[in-house]
Amino acid sequence: MSIRAKLAWTFILLLIFGITAISSYSILFIRNYLLSEGEKQIINDTRWLAITIQNLRSDDDFETNLNEIATASGYRLAIYDENGLLYAEVPFHEFPEASRQLESDLRENFVRNGAMIVEDNTNNDLLVAYTLLMPIHNAAAYLKVTIHKELIYEPIKTIRWIIYTGMFISIGLVLLVSITFSRSITLPILQLEKAAREISDGNTNQSLNLDRSDEIGTLAKSLNRMADRLRTDNLELKRLYQKQNQFFADITHEIRNPLHTIAGSLEMLKMSGLDKEQKEKYILTAERQTQRINRLFKDLVTLQRYDSDDQFIQKQTFDIQKIVSFIREILEPEALEKGLQFNTNVGHFNVYGDPDKIEQVLENLVTNAIKFTSEGSIEITAREENEKVVLEVKDTGIGISEEHLDRLFDRFYRTDKARSRDKGGTGLGLSVVKSILDAHGSEIHVESTPGEGSRFWFNLPMS
Ligand code: ADP
Repeated sequence: MSIRAKLAWTFILLLIFGITAISSYSILFIRNYLLSEGEKQIINDTRWLAITIQNLRSDDDFETNLNEIATASGYRLAIYDENGLLYAEVPFHEFPEASRQLESDLRENFVRNGAMIVEDNTNNDLLVAYTLLMPIHNAAAYLKVTIHKELIYEPIKTIRWIIYTGMFISIGLVLLVSITFSRSITLPILQLEKAAREISDGNTNQSLNLDRSDEIGTLAKSLNRMADRLRTDNLELKRLYQKQNQFFADITHEIRNPLHTIAGSLEMLKMSGLDKEQKEKYILTAERQTQRINRLFKDLVTLQRYDSDDQFIQKQTFDIQKIVSFIREILEPEALEKGLQFNTNVGHFNVYGDPDKIEQVLENLVTNAIKFTSEGSIEITAREENEKVVLEVKDTGIGISEEHLDRLFDRFYRTDKARSRDKGGTGLGLSVVKSILDAHGSEIHVESTPGEGSRFWFNLPMS
């Protein structure tokens, strides 16, 4: 059974029980009230009937007069003499006949309890009052006044109809209200269920507009948040998937190129008639391409470890000057070979980070600087700024135009693919720099003017 039907039936049954109980109780209460009012009434009426009957003359008209009194009062009257024998009984029809003799215990009762006795006779549904008479002109000694309880309960017939009509109208209204109410409660639940089903089917563009401040409204908001989250997660997954595909395509491409060159060099070497100089040239080309593949794998491993290994960075305190000196030692010859000046202006700064990885960062930046500078100088500087050491690598090279700056640190991004490959670049150097600095909680910055040179800088916390 649906929630809606359960709710509707619960309301209907509860209200029908409630209304029936209240109606039955009301009818019972009114019956009792009418009976007690009837008892009071019969006592009062018996009193004035006694007074009237006491004054009747015992002549031929006695019974006629008595009958008129009975008809006018609506009671059945029976009169007994002082021996308890029935003396007169009016009216002459409708009621069961009164007993001919007044019971002796009743008479004794008068002696004990005074002038008035009321009997609620449940056997024959009669209400009876007895009283003593003190007749002036006749021999009547006891008066018995009887009325059918039906007459007392007469008003209840109308009341009962009012109650029953009210009851049926209420039940009808209850049915209507409970169906509408349960519908209004379950409608948003059905909407929620539909939305949840659509979300589980992958339709995350679903958005519920339930303008409610109750629990259902809260649930709808949670569902909308969940759909939003799934939508962004899905988009992110799609983006990652595309990125991964692109990454694999790039790697394949990057490896295929040097492999082609190596294969070409080997083919040439197989040829007869090459002089020593030519052979050395092909061997050198093959060697360079092998080194390039090596570098590519080294960079890929660094990036992969950055993505997956929490232990990738092992921080400690170290002197940045030592690292810079080492970089100078290994890269200055290359710069000098190109006719470039190699300047360093770095003091003894103790910084906190992973020395090997910072060395790799500087190596990549300086290698690029040398690669993309044909005249002028390369400069590494370090200065203190807000309790941090700012390390800068500056060159007077070809520079980078504005439109490339945003994507410069993306994997395999190059401003000039052919030139980069010619120079043995992998297209991963700057993304490795970015990953290492990210893991240090630092950022790489770049400023460049095409034709004038570039400036890359980052900072490290002082120890
Ligand atoms: P690559 O192996 O090609 O050098 P990088 O990620 O290190 O890959 O650099 C990406 C691209 O950024 C380079 O191909 C080059 O176009 C540009 N670039 C990097 N450093 C410099 C620089 N100092 N001067 C001019 N261009 C640079």
